[in-house]
Amino acid sequence: MSEPPRPPRAPLPKPPRRDPQVRMPVPLLPPAQRSRAALGMLAAAAVGAFRLQCCTACGAAAYPPRDACPSCLSVDLAWTDLEPAGTAIAETTVRAATDPYFREHLPWRIGTVVTAAGPSLVASLHRDVSVPGPVRLSLKIDKAGNPIVVALPPSDTPLMEEDPLLRELTAHPRHRRALVTDARSETGQAVVRGLLAAGAAKVFAGVAEDWRPFPAAALPADERVEIVRLDVTDSRSTADLAASIGGKVDILVNTAEHVRPGGFVDRMGMTDQHAAFEVNVHGLARLAQTFGAAMRARGADGPNAAAALVDVLPIHAHANWPAYGLLSATAAARHSLLQCLRAELRPGGIRVIAVYTGPVDEAWRQELPPPKVTPKQIADGVVRALAEGLEEVAVGDVARDILERHLTDPKALEREISR
Ligand SMILES: [Zn+2]
Repeated sequence: MSEPPRPPRAPLPKPPRRDPQVRMPVPLLPPAQRSRAALGMLAAAAVGAFRLQCCTACGAAAYPPRDACPSCLSVDLAWTDLEPAGTAIAETTVRAATDPYFREHLPWRIGTVVTAAGPSLVASLHRDVSVPGPVRLSLKIDKAGNPIVVALPPSDTPLMEEDPLLRELTAHPRHRRALVTDARSETGQAVVRGLLAAGAAKVFAGVAEDWRPFPAAALPADERVEIVRLDVTDSRSTADLAASIGGKVDILVNTAEHVRPGGFVDRMGMTDQHAAFEVNVHGLARLAQTFGAAMRARGADGPNAAAALVDVLPIHAHANWPAYGLLSATAAARHSLLQCLRAELRPGGIRVIAVYTGPVDEAWRQELPPPKVTPKQIADGVVRALAEGLEEVAVGDVARDILERHLTDPKALEREISR
């Protein structure tokens, strides 16, 4: 029996202005208890991979996460990348729930999926999935920071990102308002363009030192762009901007960065060190201090709720690169700060995303040999992380390589990178 053709779907309309007299919904979170074994699934969801435990003795894949193989009882289970495919064989729609979070999000469509790797699992179903039928499996992170399996249609469908389930499990820029902190940098400008192309409703572009001329051609002539005064090294400036637009920022992308080559021994005085920490570390902290609480409070504010804080930082957060030793040290501090923010913003369901980059192709790193990443690649990484709801993304070959080596042998990486 062939399926009747689906009617064309109209895009999600721009939501009406909020009634200021109606109380904002308090962010609720899905149930949070998971076993320690399930953390491997979270690690996969954070980077957009699809992994299940596979037994190293007999090769069987296991689900749900567990401590021993269901076939041979071996305790040697390894998280393994698997083909993210399966077949949905049954479905139901949950229309009643005792849990307050799910009660707010009903109806919720779930189904049984037999994975290509073997085990069956219960997945949340995208609205365009046909049952029975093939699906693409994706691990996502729910608002409480836990992994959840989502079944998507086998190939992209029109406006698929507007499915309420995906709106809830990602931070897609479509219809959301974003602040990009440094529109003077090429990276900041590329991110502004990327967010506009992804359908952002508004992009606030931060410009520091507004006495310096800002070339109008640096940003697209788009009515959704609004230039705002923002200097992340100035607490007054971040507080003033938060007071004026803090309640409208659904996505905050920090692209501010102070870059100077060199380490510590051969550097004269403290000027560069103060400046680097001031922008790279304290700048991010100031943004968190001034925008964080408002974003956290707006985490349940409808389908376009506040959703994510993104930081673009060097991959050398994971292993210091002495040629840019000072920058690497600030990146490590930033990485740690992001981990803290992830915990602090979780009660509002705000995703904290780290976009790690290799050396960027811009003025302060012009003497470096390729491969370097372009601002456009970074912007693509930011948009992809938001659209897929990731927590970490490595942009460019250098960053991907360093991240992989960091995960396998951090000491060897430290030594090799300092040659
Ligand atoms: Zn086994």
